[in-house]
Amino acid sequence: NYSLKQLQQIDAAHHLHPFTDHKEMREAGSRIITHASGPFIYDSEGTEILDGMAGLWCVNIGYGRDELAEAAYAQMKELPYYNSFFKCSSPTPVLLAKKLAELAPKHVNQVFFGSSGSEANDTALRLVRHYWALEGKPEKNRIISRKSAYHGSTIAGTSLGGMEPMHRQLNGAVPNIVHVMMPYAYELALPGESDHDFGLRAAKAVEDAILEAGADKVAAFIGEPVMGAGGVKIPPMSYWPEVQRICRKYDVLLMLDEVITGYGRTGEWFAAQTFDIEPDTITTAKALTSGYQPLSALLVGDRIAATLVEKGGEFNHGYTYAGHPVACAVALKNLEIIEREGLVDRVKNDTGPYFAKALQEHIGGHDLVGEVRSIGLMGAIEIVRDKATKERFLPAGSAAVTVRDHAVAQGMMLRATGDTMILSPPLIWTHETIDMACGRIAKALDLGQADLRK
Ligand code: PLP
Repeated sequence: NYSLKQLQQIDAAHHLHPFTDHKEMREAGSRIITHASGPFIYDSEGTEILDGMAGLWCVNIGYGRDELAEAAYAQMKELPYYNSFFKCSSPTPVLLAKKLAELAPKHVNQVFFGSSGSEANDTALRLVRHYWALEGKPEKNRIISRKSAYHGSTIAGTSLGGMEPMHRQLNGAVPNIVHVMMPYAYELALPGESDHDFGLRAAKAVEDAILEAGADKVAAFIGEPVMGAGGVKIPPMSYWPEVQRICRKYDVLLMLDEVITGYGRTGEWFAAQTFDIEPDTITTAKALTSGYQPLSALLVGDRIAATLVEKGGEFNHGYTYAGHPVACAVALKNLEIIEREGLVDRVKNDTGPYFAKALQEHIGGHDLVGEVRSIGLMGAIEIVRDKATKERFLPAGSAAVTVRDHAVAQGMMLRATGDTMILSPPLIWTHETIDMACGRIAKALDLGQADLRK
């Protein structure tokens, strides 16, 4: 048995963490999470923390589900691994693909598996470019994405994404990807501009980019239905129908990245259904297994699938763990639990509306809060110095980190991204859990306020 101090020292000496300033981590020491149950995580010192982020937007059915462990164990004994290359298959990916086709929008019936959201987006990029080449239009290869989008950390994921610090470090992105404005009304709407009009203007940026490149050069538009890591940016309801109309007008494919929004988060199985969008591809991962196993599923619409099957020959692309039998067994059990417990409906009709109301009532009026917003069980809190002018604290991002640190000390895990605090709890949260979270966040805001206005 290692003490906390020993684990921290070994961690600092040998373990390079994702998205971490290692020098800072060495000084502060890492927090070692040792176990978890229901909506709570516990660190090595026994501190109980309410997990407002469902891990990384993924543990939708909460922690400690024996049924998932049993499904994994049974599958490991039966067939721990076999691949899905070269016309081979095994039962669990077959059954999972069928289940996903049933849950997805009607015109989406094929699935390509991977292990992560980043891999799924790589696949999606390759697939849409391949599609246009098969259709005799290889020059139709440009992709339109958005500033501050997050589509993963591989080279293609980073290039598709619109995170400036990531692009700076990449120092040479995949070519022919451009980034347009995001539908972020709180900062980008003009004075007096309605939400509706702002949504149309943000969609117009997509049309402008298509026209600038020439429609015969543009393969696809990619977007998260609700931008997640960029700050839970919920588009006006006018945005997606207009983006879809524009894509159809210029014969540009529509790619949705539902790595966060998939499997119930917005109150439907997919946010495509929440926003009434008919995408050509849907990237999913995370909550597909509630994070209990690494697995992604790229859902492919009939248009692309038909061309791939009829004209494609061999698609020279695939991952060793595509359709991993154990991960697929866990996904099937996870989806069964989501259905059995009615979690998607619960988010839509009960906990989602309650979450929105509780955020407004307990957090929205705080002096440090410029806006709260949510959709389903996905929320954001904008931290400002001045509510009326929306002026931020300096340096940028520091205030949200201050409040976040107080929240964690209050037993509330949430995330700070820029000047926004974000929440994406497990879908098992109840009214009581939501009240508990809001109480802890309100306390953290009071403590943060005392620090920030010293
Ligand atoms: N796309 C979105 C919208 C995400 O939020 C993420 C991860 O947070 C990814 C893609 C990448 O997924 P992964 O980390 O599984 O590669």
